[in-house]
Amino acid sequence: MMEVTRPLGTYSHTYWLMYLLTAAAAAVLAWGVGVRISRWRTGRGAGRDRMSHPWRRSLDLAADVATQRRLRSPSHPWLFHGLIVWGFGIFLLGTFCLMLQEHFGLPTFSGGWYLILNLGLDLFSVLVLVGVILAAWRRWVLRPEELSRARTSGLVLALVAALPVSGLLLEGVRLAREPDPWAPWSPVGYSVAGLLPGVETETFSALHLGLWWGHLLVALGFLAAIPFTRLFHLVAGPAALFFADRDAARALVPLDLSDEDATSFGVGRIEDFYWKRLLDADACTGCGRCQSQCPAWQSGKSLSPKEISESIQSRLIPGVREARQGRSPGGGEDAPALAGEVVQEKALWACTTCRSCEAHCPVGVEHVPRIIDMRRFLVLTKARFPSELLTAFRGLEHNGNPFGLESRERVDRAVEAQLPIWADTPEAEILLWPGCNGVYDPRYRQVIEALAELLKRAGIRFAVPGEEAVCCGDAARRLGNEYLCQELVVRNLEAFERMGIRRIVTACPHCFNTLRHEYPAFGDGLEVVHHSELLSELLSSGRLRLPSGGKESAIGFHDPCYLARYNGITTEPRQLLRAAGIHIEESDRKGKDAFCCGGGGGRIWLEEQEGRPMGDERVGQLMAAGALKIATACPFCLTMLTQGNAKLADGMPIQVQDVAEILAEKTI
Ligand code: SF4
Ligand code: SF4
Repeated sequence: MMEVTRPLGTYSHTYWLMYLLTAAAAAVLAWGVGVRISRWRTGRGAGRDRMSHPWRRSLDLAADVATQRRLRSPSHPWLFHGLIVWGFGIFLLGTFCLMLQEHFGLPTFSGGWYLILNLGLDLFSVLVLVGVILAAWRRWVLRPEELSRARTSGLVLALVAALPVSGLLLEGVRLAREPDPWAPWSPVGYSVAGLLPGVETETFSALHLGLWWGHLLVALGFLAAIPFTRLFHLVAGPAALFFADRDAARALVPLDLSDEDATSFGVGRIEDFYWKRLLDADACTGCGRCQSQCPAWQSGKSLSPKEISESIQSRLIPGVREARQGRSPGGGEDAPALAGEVVQEKALWACTTCRSCEAHCPVGVEHVPRIIDMRRFLVLTKARFPSELLTAFRGLEHNGNPFGLESRERVDRAVEAQLPIWADTPEAEILLWPGCNGVYDPRYRQVIEALAELLKRAGIRFAVPGEEAVCCGDAARRLGNEYLCQELVVRNLEAFERMGIRRIVTACPHCFNTLRHEYPAFGDGLEVVHHSELLSELLSSGRLRLPSGGKESAIGFHDPCYLARYNGITTEPRQLLRAAGIHIEESDRKGKDAFCCGGGGGRIWLEEQEGRPMGDERVGQLMAAGALKIATACPFCLTMLTQGNAKLADGMPIQVQDVAEILAEKTI
């Protein structure tokens, strides 16, 4: 019986040349990649754990590549990118199977598998071409604003297209030259064969030889071009994803401030960055998804996370050259300052640390920590920051809160609202952490009072901190004032220790994130819950009860970034609203995709100098979805959405409430 395969080794006498050329292409690839790696190595150490759980990292990476899930939202470049990626995966598989059979005699290119492989190679050749056409259409006809125009884009797409085109022609000529009973398993190649004019067998043989070499040279050219074109994302992208740390933004690496000889803190030069930040910059493909999803950019600010990536990338090349010449790489007296000249300072201060850019970056660039790194340099080394921050920094330093009000008010306000104070409540089992807003902002005090009322109704023994508490440190840290942040953290941890506090509930996602994820770097871990989690639990266990009936609609829910994107909490606040009989009018940007209110990253303490207020944009989105009232679960969101200019049809400002307030109105 005839073996199901095809004749192999037709040009085996020229394999020495093929392998020589392959070795040359591999050497160019290795050299180019080596140069790029040497750029990353100009950075400092890892800063955080980048190697743990290699299997989990590998599986995550494999899932990212196989499913193209990081490209799914918001637009659909994943379709053409997926066609190309999957097609090249099949091409690689086919080549390996062929080589294994030809060189090692393994049955990897024969039998039923051979037919399936043939069909796959044939069909995916066409699908890759469809992907290239879609990509070219998008790049040169649709021209999305966010997409960077790289000089090598045309070359890259031409190389990608040349591989399947030469492969299909090669297959067509092979089938035209020699009869093959399995030809229908290569339907496209078979059709190409049918289109070829009848010529002498020798002519076909010469044509086949030419195409065989052409196909090989295209493949080798593709390999060699990787380090010098945007194709480099094939190496740097998976590397950046593999070494990514999803905790990078929510638990920033503390600065070592104990070095008395240090003359600089934060990142002022290229080599001050950790190597992962340099890898990230090199992995950037210029796709612009981060920019198109950045609320600062969308509301007219001069911040583009893509431009920051590309600016750092542009400094990497001179940085390496300077390092080789024995000068400070990327730095030195003559080099442009990273924060200020390479990256605009106002762009750094426009960031709300919302992580929308990170959520949409296909190669896992950690945007937020590098922005904070540069803010740290400006604040701690250069003492350069927007003037309005001086009041907040002074308030934190002298009074332990950014409002600059007396710490005594923590007790006075608690007494006024009849809230138990921890020092006087030995039976308290959980600390109700009001955050600075819950003490000094009269509007937000109402939220804390509503939450306290709910806890009382559920029989929870709680108390609030007294004068000994200070700001959790989130704003100072994200504004780059690490020194102040660490002072505040240590003061709080000492107070918690003295008072025997182990469990904390807070309504502020910023306090929640810092207490839960950042405090463990400075002391024993605490059990910290967000009020939406605790209230949801109390409802499920029946400790909080709601009257049956009553339906309310036209309420939109705004997901706070530090709750949804930072901590994945999107279900609990919605559960509370639904349990209260509320139909939520969801906007397109919801959950982990939500648009930022504009108050995070310390932005609430800064003037809105450029563009439109993000809060207005967000209120507009929720109103467009049908909301006549907004619910949220964060003091900054409450403030930013309330102080906007958006008005309802009757000219009245839209009402914004915390989920705890809504629940307190409904529970019995
Ligand atoms: S964290 Fe938010 S505001 Fe900052 S660059 Fe990213 S998307 Fe823009
Ligand atoms: S940082 Fe990420 S999302 Fe932004 S342009 Fe680069 S690859 Fe695209």
